[in-house]
Amino acid sequence: MSRQINIYHLYPSQLNLYGDRGNMLAISRRARWRNIELQIIPIEPGDQINFDRCDLLFMGGGQDSDQLLVAADLKKRQAEMRQAVEIGMPVFAVCGSFQLLGNHYTAVSGEKISGLEILDLYTEAGDKRLIGNAVISCPLWQPAQTLVGFENHAGKTYLGPGLKPLGTVLYGFGNNGQDKKEGAVYKNVIGTYLHGSLLPKNPWLTDYLLTKALEYRGQDSTLEKLDDSTETEAHRAAVYLARSWRHRMRSSRA
Ligand code: GLN
Repeated sequence: MSRQINIYHLYPSQLNLYGDRGNMLAISRRARWRNIELQIIPIEPGDQINFDRCDLLFMGGGQDSDQLLVAADLKKRQAEMRQAVEIGMPVFAVCGSFQLLGNHYTAVSGEKISGLEILDLYTEAGDKRLIGNAVISCPLWQPAQTLVGFENHAGKTYLGPGLKPLGTVLYGFGNNGQDKKEGAVYKNVIGTYLHGSLLPKNPWLTDYLLTKALEYRGQDSTLEKLDDSTETEAHRAAVYLARSWRHRMRSSRA
């Protein structure tokens, strides 16, 4: 029997920065290579749609102004989204959306946006943007795997005491530039500051999300191995860039 996954892409017109949409291309391709039927359903503000048939929810990043555009619509979906998350709906949220899954985000203008309270975290905009390539060590796998991406945010995010980060910062700023934490994981929700696009050069994360989506829909989650030599090469090159850029920054300051 053929396997099937529905990805709900929340606010693709408003929340899409630094190639976030590429995440959808990467996951579709890796599903197709395994003969998994994958459908991406865009959801725009005002759309009447429930999450019953959603196997993976994806939300990209957005500037403060974009976050404000979707905040009210998102809040209307809060109860339903929280319920779905509690029963294991996988969610993958990048940067601006990661912030909106938390308790609140205070934007650069001082405006406070109330979040979905799915992740116990809060975010306050700082006066300096945290920009650059980043590498984290992520314990979703044993041994831990690196994830590499690009971050650009004013928001500084602080996790509540029980919330686990997605990983530990090796190069870059992460959630706030201070505590070495990057992103957050709660149940099957992954929030991260890493754009990039993230998934094309971190194929193990793409497969992790595919596995979670298949499991959530009660389908066989075995994934055939693929030839990842190109993706792994891209990953290595991005790690190398992030490392040498940080070294250059350090030595130019010395
Ligand atoms: N507006 C947020 C910030 O600057 C998120 C930016 C983003 O999604 N890259 O913190």
